Amino acid sequence: MHDDRDLIEARLKRVLDERVRPAVYPESVPLDVGVWHAPGEPVPVAEGLAAVPRPITVGDRWGAPWGTSWFTVTGAVPAAWAGRTVEAILDLGFDENMPGFQCEGLVYRPDGTPVKGLNPRNQWVRVGTPVEGGEEVRLHIEAASNPVILDYHPFLPTTLGDKETAGTEPQYRLARIDLAVFDETVWQLVMDLEVLGELMRELPVESGRRWEILRAVDRALDAIDLQDVNGTAAAARERLAGVLASPAEPSAHRISAVGHAHIDSAWLWPLRETVRKVARTASNMTALIDEEPDFVFAMSQAQQWAWIKEHRPEVWAKVTKAVSAGRFVPAGGMWVESDTNMPGSEAMARQFVHGKRFFLDEFGVENDEVWLPDTFGFAAGLPQIIRAAGSKWLLTQKISWSRTNTFPHHTFLWEGIDGTRIFTHFPPVDTYNCSMKGGEIAHAARNFKDKGVARHSLAPTGWGDGGGGTTREMVAKAARMRDLEGSATVTWETPAEFFTAAEAEYADPPVWVGELYLELHRATLTSQAKTKQGNRRSESLLREAELWSATAAVRAGHPYPYEQLDRIWKTVLLHQFHDILPGSSIAWVHREAERTYAAVAEELEGVIEGAQRALAGDPEPDAVLLFNSAPHTREGVAAGGAAVPLGGGVTGLRPREGGGHVLDNGLLRVEIDESGLVVSVYDLVAGRESVAPGRAANLLQLHSDFPNMWDAWDVDEFYRNTVVDLTDADEVAPGTEPGSVRVTRSFGGSTVTQVLSLAPGARRLDIETEVDWHETEKFLKLAFPLDVRADRYASETQYGHAYRATHTNTSWEAAKFEACNHRFVHLEEPGWGVALVNDSTYGHDVTRTVRASDSGTTTTLRVSLLRAPRFPDPETDQGVHRFRHALVPGATIGDAVREGYFINLPARRVRGAAAVAPLVTLDDDAVVVTAVKLADDGSGDVIVRFHEAHGGRARATLTAGFPLGGVTATDLLERPLAAEVPHEGDAVPLTLRPFELVTLRLRR
Ligand SMILES: [Zn+2]
Repeated sequence: MHDDRDLIEARLKRVLDERVRPAVYPESVPLDVGVWHAPGEPVPVAEGLAAVPRPITVGDRWGAPWGTSWFTVTGAVPAAWAGRTVEAILDLGFDENMPGFQCEGLVYRPDGTPVKGLNPRNQWVRVGTPVEGGEEVRLHIEAASNPVILDYHPFLPTTLGDKETAGTEPQYRLARIDLAVFDETVWQLVMDLEVLGELMRELPVESGRRWEILRAVDRALDAIDLQDVNGTAAAARERLAGVLASPAEPSAHRISAVGHAHIDSAWLWPLRETVRKVARTASNMTALIDEEPDFVFAMSQAQQWAWIKEHRPEVWAKVTKAVSAGRFVPAGGMWVESDTNMPGSEAMARQFVHGKRFFLDEFGVENDEVWLPDTFGFAAGLPQIIRAAGSKWLLTQKISWSRTNTFPHHTFLWEGIDGTRIFTHFPPVDTYNCSMKGGEIAHAARNFKDKGVARHSLAPTGWGDGGGGTTREMVAKAARMRDLEGSATVTWETPAEFFTAAEAEYADPPVWVGELYLELHRATLTSQAKTKQGNRRSESLLREAELWSATAAVRAGHPYPYEQLDRIWKTVLLHQFHDILPGSSIAWVHREAERTYAAVAEELEGVIEGAQRALAGDPEPDAVLLFNSAPHTREGVAAGGAAVPLGGGVTGLRPREGGGHVLDNGLLRVEIDESGLVVSVYDLVAGRESVAPGRAANLLQLHSDFPNMWDAWDVDEFYRNTVVDLTDADEVAPGTEPGSVRVTRSFGGSTVTQVLSLAPGARRLDIETEVDWHETEKFLKLAFPLDVRADRYASETQYGHAYRATHTNTSWEAAKFEACNHRFVHLEEPGWGVALVNDSTYGHDVTRTVRASDSGTTTTLRVSLLRAPRFPDPETDQGVHRFRHALVPGATIGDAVREGYFINLPARRVRGAAAVAPLVTLDDDAVVVTAVKLADDGSGDVIVRFHEAHGGRARATLTAGFPLGGVTATDLLERPLAAEVPHEGDAVPLTLRPFELVTLRLRR
């Protein structure tokens, strides 16, 4: 037979585009439209409904950036349409090439009932089926003229990302406001032809199935009268029924479609807009659930549910009804889809506490799955936290974005630092916005790496971020692929149904040990430094606030601020969302975040001060207590206690031969040259130099930093090709504090002032850096070339530390050229190591060279201080920043842990006479307390959470500083795990595995 395949495929495309799709709405009449532009920020729904509209005509421009316009649409169904299906088509000026990221609307009836959202690919509202004719139509649209930030001119600097700089130019043109007849048969024919046409193109040309579909399509097109598509569509459908009825092969891949809308809690829009995005999408999805009996929708991020409940009760009513029916499913069990690299131990745990608790309290639903499709990499501490929260499965697709290495599995066990293994799935469809296109379905089946031993994968299906979620077209296509020869099968399922089936069929999945590093978006560890500092400082303040509030409650009957702490935790957790903490949002978001963190700090300082005041007793004139919030003894004061600190010791400062200064406290001798560079840090106890020969530490290095795309997100490896060492000093002089040296430098439009100091009795060189930063597209690093040979180094992560290689043997190691740390980085040779601790930086890199002079190894540890990307915030990080770091020579991993806590928890000195005994004491420094608080249930029980922090085994005794009534081990939500933990009086003997995390409830 002659090969006419190209001819028929082209015929299908033209007839679909030019005749069949336009025939879905064969007749239409215009509606009348009025508009009222809200003068500022969004107004309550009642106010929008009551506003008096002015006329506006289709074709008119509307919508200043970030504005809200209430459209009123009125008309009547023509009498001649009686018996037919009628819809309103409401095109606000959408660009259908983008499924979201532009204007949107939420349609209301005059009584305030939400109908559904309006989105670029979802512009219809059903008026009636069948209509009687003559019905009055009156709809209200709350429309948001959110500007397009990303798609038209990717990654060009724009002032549209903040209402304060965005101007007033209308962004959209009203495109179509009509009533129209909806021809369901033609619409179904479109669905038939799309599914078959897309499937056909994915099948091998040699496959008989491909040709059977081609011939059926050809015959169906023959049946269409191009001048009467509506009259002939049914006949065309009949000719496709046979190929659509042919069932899937027994070995077909099985896709669990989960209705989904990935809604970033803030990103290219401010937080307040996400409140409305979620309401629009939820309205769409409850409407779709009403129409489609098989459809299931899952929504993650408890915060987004809480927003609906608080701000859109009318939408909440529909959502809760659909939840009861099992159709609208709470997913993920986290407060937000957070970053997982940077959140500290407790914050990562509280994401689950507050997320899971919300769904338990509202619906009695316990999430077993963690849903993080878009998060930029996964820290190796996470598996243990997932398990401790009572969850057991993880889903993400983001690792498919890695640019260097292809991950070897789609379904596997992920093993964390302590050995916890979590059943993990990466959807092979490689998107969290699946639209049920044949190409996507075929890609998922082909791409799935666990073929032969497993057959299930998950497809998150629907448009996110203002796309409105799943569409009726996606549901229609899924129905055709439920059991279709040549295609993977598609079934609507909940995440839990998918995971249950996937786990059951895969008895012995492969294991991946250690972090799931995303080989992309590495600059999110540095961009928007103030947001990152706000997070770290809030985490530290929350630790202090809980510790001292609990201590004051037990010791002094001080009221415990349950509701205040709950609210502040949720604020901090929200800002760990995967575009806020990573620094990839618009200026508006980060400007607000800075203010929010300042308010959080002020409030928590008040909580801490109130509790410490209650504990400290009379402020005698000369008595000063040190409150030690750190988990280790400090200046003679026990962890979690307060007492008069031990003092003593001096640091000498003398001129250095050849210029510069020498600091010496008997433990360390630090030489700072005339350029302000640290040329020697000599460990007097070990008799050993820290700085590599011929090199200098505390070296500021400035790189050009212009990635190929994703400016705030990415640093591309070529940034290292060009570097300027900032060695010119304006001034190097003794600092105002004893035992310190102050160094000032200028470069470009910026200045840096550093104070290097050596405290008496400390084995730690403190470095305070203040940068007045006015660069663009530059990357500022602080380098420490160390005389240490080590194959690997440790970075702190949640509840422990993870190792990475210092070499680049394979592409996997080479790709980790920028990585995340929490409070410390540590590297060591047997018997001697160095730590670098920080108070608020996360990005760092470690490289090594071998010296020609003495064949020794120089391992260079660099922290990332500041970047200056221009998209999406054109003014990223401009202004004054302050950082604290400390180099700790001779440090064991235990020293690194301790000094990391100290630099993040500055000692608080409070006037008072009453020493405070700790609520809990642990007698082994390897066992580190991360939280002391009162139980969330208001019982007054003391909750203590701790973990083994050195990576070894620990035997320790926990001693309660109050009469102990009983001890229970709990999960993160403070629910009992097992029988009572034995205790002897107030002492609890413990043994811990490496990095084991334990939560105990201590009854008084
Ligand atoms: Zn996202």
